[in-house]
Amino acid sequence: MLKGRLAVVTGSTSGIGLGIARGLARQGADILLNGFGDAELTRSLCTQISEEFHVRVLHHGADMSSAEQIRNMITYAVNEFGRLDILVNNAGIQHTATVDQFPEERWDAVIAVNLSSNFHTIKAALPHMKARSWGRIINVASVHGLVGSMNKSAYVAAKHGVVGLTKVVALETAQTGISCNAICPGWVLTPLVQRQIDDLAARENITNEQAQARLLGEKQPSGDFATPEQIAELAVFLCSDSAAQIRGAAFAIDGGWTAQ
Ligand code: NAD
Repeated sequence: MLKGRLAVVTGSTSGIGLGIARGLARQGADILLNGFGDAELTRSLCTQISEEFHVRVLHHGADMSSAEQIRNMITYAVNEFGRLDILVNNAGIQHTATVDQFPEERWDAVIAVNLSSNFHTIKAALPHMKARSWGRIINVASVHGLVGSMNKSAYVAAKHGVVGLTKVVALETAQTGISCNAICPGWVLTPLVQRQIDDLAARENITNEQAQARLLGEKQPSGDFATPEQIAELAVFLCSDSAAQIRGAAFAIDGGWTAQ
């Protein structure tokens, strides 16, 4: 379905981003991976995906907190692949503390990586999509783009911002072949969430399994994690022709979290 397309997926050396990159590659898209990790890891991810799905895969290590590095990454993508069709804004970080204890530099970092990066990538990518009158922009927001939770002021502010940015980009591109939508996952078991489980287990002196159950029990009625593969399948659908008139939507995949 996506043969001949190029997808840039930010934060795709791990977790949800890696799942989405693999899902798009399975449909035939060439992939520019991005994200942290040593040279050996990124080389082996490129080789694995490329060999498994017979697509071209490169990695660019741009730091999503730097507008200049983001612009360099988009230029690199277009120079290497000759096009840019799909942009998945997925890179994200977390920091938890009450507002009055929240370190200012952590606030700035979370807003930069989780929100401002989406503006910079979209601004740089749009001219290349417009040139071909086709594009798909998918922003990985969060349930925290729709509802709040204590101790996550910067993350919740950033993700609500992503949902708002998604709507504006969708309106500005509404009469083109470019669409922009957001995916809002609930708990997905990735390294980002495992760190929160480890913290909870250490704080409460409970096992990993007990901490997982506690985390899910507080918010996610299904009692199960969503998976990167499930999120990737929605991303693939949003890239299809059937999804051409889905514009500015924010899709929860959250085991019922935001239904409460
Ligand atoms: P993860 O920690 O497994 O992966 C994050 C990826 O982003 C990694 O590839 C990392 O290298 C990259 N990254 C981090 N900072 C970066 C930077 N400054 N520049 C470039 N790359 C950077 O996390 P994940 O759980 O897969 O999260 C991916 C996205 O999904 C995030 O935006 C997160 O907010 C969102 N999300 C996750 C969950 C969840 O439960 N895991 C729920 C809702 C939303």
